[in-house]
Amino acid sequence: MSRDYDVVIVGGGGAGMCAAIEARLAGARVMIVEADTKLGGATALSGGVFYAAGTSVQRARGYDDSADAMFAYVMTLNQWRVKPDIFRIICDRSGPCLEWLIELGAVFPPAQLVKGGVETVPRAHPSAGAGSGIADVLINRVGAMGIETALTTRVERLLIEDGRVVGIHALGIDLRAGAVVLTTGGFGNSPEMRARFFPTAAQHGERVWAVHDPAPYIVGDGITLGEAAGAAIVGHDTGLLLPSSGHGRNLEPFMPPWLMLVNLDAQRFMPEMASYSITGYALNEQPEARAWAIFDEAALRTASHDIRYLDPYGAGINLPTWEEDTIRRRVAKGEVLVADTLDELASLCGLDARALAHSVDRYNADCDARADSHFFQEEEKAFPVRSGPFYACEVRASTIGVTGAGLDIDRECRVLDSAGIPVPGLYAAGEVLGVLMGKRYAGGGMSIGPAVVLGREAGVQAAAYAGSRSARLPEQG
Ligand SMILES: Cc1cc2nc3c(=O)[nH]c(=O)nc-3n(C[C@H](O)[C@H](O)[C@H](O)COP(=O)(O)OP(=O)(O)OC[C@H]3O[C@@H](n4cnc5c(N)ncnc54)[C@H](O)[C@@H]3O)c2cc1C
Repeated sequence: MSRDYDVVIVGGGGAGMCAAIEARLAGARVMIVEADTKLGGATALSGGVFYAAGTSVQRARGYDDSADAMFAYVMTLNQWRVKPDIFRIICDRSGPCLEWLIELGAVFPPAQLVKGGVETVPRAHPSAGAGSGIADVLINRVGAMGIETALTTRVERLLIEDGRVVGIHALGIDLRAGAVVLTTGGFGNSPEMRARFFPTAAQHGERVWAVHDPAPYIVGDGITLGEAAGAAIVGHDTGLLLPSSGHGRNLEPFMPPWLMLVNLDAQRFMPEMASYSITGYALNEQPEARAWAIFDEAALRTASHDIRYLDPYGAGINLPTWEEDTIRRRVAKGEVLVADTLDELASLCGLDARALAHSVDRYNADCDARADSHFFQEEEKAFPVRSGPFYACEVRASTIGVTGAGLDIDRECRVLDSAGIPVPGLYAAGEVLGVLMGKRYAGGGMSIGPAVVLGREAGVQAAAYAGSRSARLPEQG
């Protein structure tokens, strides 16, 4: 049977472009099929942070780090519930893949290197130019290598013969291939997929939104395509989930430090500025998966304007949701509650007034002492809840940063069925995978890093498979 291409890549984001580059380098005839009007996907929209160990950027800052240390950290944080053999590859190659991106022209300024999660050595490498700083060098490389690309072409189904994936179907056309690589990204924009695969997020109903919002095809097509070929779907109910004040579609990677966060028992349950490695699930484990941010008039008038609190990490991240004007508009609409006394506020929020008063007393004493006797965090507590009116804003972990359920793969990026056996001819990489996320997020950059590492590997392996099949079988067109 003739083939149109050796390797067809479904989805031209970060993982897909990396796969295409490597497959082409291996001598394969490659086609990227992309549903959107342009290449880049969520990768181009992202913050462009790349998680890696043992890099020249770390060394420039004097940090000694290793793949072993990164592996121990990621696996322990996720209680060994992410796939160890896949993470061994990710950790071993994260450094070399960052250097590869630098060779292609990406810039990761050493001064911007930060801790992306709760690691002890900074491993989050922000790219100059954020996500497009990475996507653009890949797009340029794809173009320079003459890799064919079909834009505005959404793959509708895989061609399957005798249990083997032999191509794709899109826009009424069959395209035959030696191997197919699924790199369609996550499913954050699909309410149906969220309900099915990410119920911890979906429970928040209309408040739920995904940061993938501007990328229209991040709807889980790779899961649907893979399932039809017999692929197993793993990683149920995992992903990066961020607390949100519920104000529009604003990314709020952390809460500002000038408020007090309590659960429905009126108890503080985590440091307000805890790392987003853990905050989403810590919040969702509280009664009814809800919390209240409590603050007073003085904090609203002063702290909400202070750049130290709007952008506490100096990362250029603003929190417009927590500025005074925004909050006052929300008060007028009844979205943020206000009361003259704490007792009244407790009643409006459905909290026990005695419990809230007790928690506030302890919190205020901490503010007076400029120390957190509850969680012993470094950031000082400087804004007591003391001078009315008092405010309460409901916080829920309802923003999806990355989706975690998806396809299972082996070390060669072959898609596996429920028996753990490869589906012949089918490969996958990137956010479409279900083996990368536990209920903790190792840190900023832990999505683009694996997408690049495994995208490259999927390209190498798919090209090898397509080549070996064309060597064995008279199917080269
Ligand atoms: C605002 C934002 C900030 C982020 N910041 C970071 C960060 O700093 N660091 C980090 O590690 N992660 C970050 N992430 C997450 C990260 O960007 C993604 O997890 C990662 O880029 C996914 O790469 P991918 O190649 O798997 O998918 P994508 O880059 O999303 O590419 C998937 C592509 O597949 C296409 N596609 C889908 N279905 C089909 C179909 N049926 N046919 C053809 N094409 C299809 C899509 O249109 C898309 O172009 C962020 C995400 C967002 C949205």
